[in-house]
Amino acid sequence: MTMHMAARSAPTRPPLRCPGCDRILPCAWEHRPQVRWCDGCGVGYTDPPPWPPAPPPPPQGPLQPPPRWRRTLKRLWVSLLADEAPLWVRSWLPPAQDAWLVDVGCGDGRYVRAMALLGWRTIGLERAAVSLQWARQVTVRPLIQADAHILPLAPTCVHAITLWHVLEHLWDPLTALRAMQRVLASDGQLLVEVPNVHSVQARVWGPRWFHWDLERHIWHFSPTTLQQVLTRAGFRVVKWRTPANGPGWTESGGWSRRWMSVFTLLDSLWALGGRGGVVRVCARVMGGTPCTVKGPSRSS
Ligand SMILES: [Zn+2]
Repeated sequence: MTMHMAARSAPTRPPLRCPGCDRILPCAWEHRPQVRWCDGCGVGYTDPPPWPPAPPPPPQGPLQPPPRWRRTLKRLWVSLLADEAPLWVRSWLPPAQDAWLVDVGCGDGRYVRAMALLGWRTIGLERAAVSLQWARQVTVRPLIQADAHILPLAPTCVHAITLWHVLEHLWDPLTALRAMQRVLASDGQLLVEVPNVHSVQARVWGPRWFHWDLERHIWHFSPTTLQQVLTRAGFRVVKWRTPANGPGWTESGGWSRRWMSVFTLLDSLWALGGRGGVVRVCARVMGGTPCTVKGPSRSS
């Protein structure tokens, strides 16, 4: 049994290939990072892209225990509405007993834990060792240090794969998505969320928009280009939204997180018109093969 370790530390830098149209994208390595757009398909990319791909920021928490009244309020909130598996996750991915869910880029593991509590059999994949250490304190579910480009899972029966703000960090999103397509069952679902470059917040903040994150993000997607990339990888998009995103406003302006809910509400207005801060897509495998074994056994 082998485990494909995370580090893509090869000294040679592979060419940056557009996931939307396969062009090799020109990069001016000596310049300060800026956003450019592929001439062929319109996918945005950071020029020069961060190489080697930058690790995610360290997880936050576990924080100091909040006061008792806040804990009580939080418990109420969690049971009613949100937690790390908010209502929309539960509606797009209804709790499924004994079905496998793989979260690629699981970070601190709280979402994996929440989905496991809802009945999913979960596996968290994470490239960064520091995040994985954190996640191991949060959940006892299987956690694997792995690179999303080379999923260490047999091509079998994963029923759901989720990528929350991960795709824009990958050097080769198309290769990674094709790997996910292979491990998903024919009725499996892929859920992806990335920042929306066609959002009102991106337009308002311009180069100061928080979600460009040029030190870490290689790719910049719109609803159109994200769907185009998914289709090329062998997925059929079944629904998409551009939900509201509060941090895109508060972090761009350097404002207190106290204002988050106000700006989330404001962004909801733009979300109604397809210009919310993030793009969220649910896709299914095109012509997938039926599930034949139980569970996503490790490839060897
Ligand atoms: Zn392109």
